[in-house]
Amino acid sequence: MSRLPIVFFGHGSPMVALEQSEVTRQWKAMADRIGKPKAILCISAHWQTRGTAVTAMPQPRTIHDFGAFPQALFDMQYPAPGDPELAARVAELLAPMPVKLDNGWGFDHGTWTVLVHAYPEADVPVIQLGMDLAKTPQQHFDVGRALRPLRDEGVLIMATGNIVHNLPAMDWGNPAATPYPWAQGFNDTMCEAIAKDTPQTVIDYETLGDAARYSVPSSDHFLPLLYFLGARHEGEMAEFAPHFIQHKSLSMTSVLIGAD
Ligand code: ZN
Repeated sequence: MSRLPIVFFGHGSPMVALEQSEVTRQWKAMADRIGKPKAILCISAHWQTRGTAVTAMPQPRTIHDFGAFPQALFDMQYPAPGDPELAARVAELLAPMPVKLDNGWGFDHGTWTVLVHAYPEADVPVIQLGMDLAKTPQQHFDVGRALRPLRDEGVLIMATGNIVHNLPAMDWGNPAATPYPWAQGFNDTMCEAIAKDTPQTVIDYETLGDAARYSVPSSDHFLPLLYFLGARHEGEMAEFAPHFIQHKSLSMTSVLIGAD
């Protein structure tokens, strides 16, 4: 079995699930480049846990983890199966670190609002990995590194978050507004580090001062990027979907690594 690429999706408002846009077409195009994997391991911004956890139920529920949105969004389901065997394999790869086999979570919107576009047939088993709140950026990266062998076992490692995610600063009425200089600068610095394969710059993002503080006011949407980069092999090329920042402070950058 050949080695699968890895992918980071910059996700936006949950409403994207109901839309067809440049962003959703990019996601589908990236999935088409990857092809259909045997299973997907997804690291989502929307699942942080005490200790590392992995969903282990055979049929995960679709979680509508958001507030005031149209009923049509609450009616959406992503009925892909889970993969208890893969959950056990993840725990084995991360041992002796304890991994909780979780039966309560499912697919949060960081996962399913992307997958309804990327793999609309919902016929590939999907599990989610919970990001341990207590870990440092380096430790999140190291978990991604420990999961890297899955790429040679037919499993797609997919991360979903945002490089720049500052909701209070967003210009909600104007998606195409010129980004804040700190948002553009931080996104550019991260993309350059990814392009040059210098992940330490990404791991040490907090040293970048105000640009980092404003771009990553809380780490939830940024951390999936560290798992993604941890799963990279040296010398693998990164491809960026035409990337841009929406509403001045929400980066929609998506990255595919290791595709031929
Ligand atoms: Zn989100």
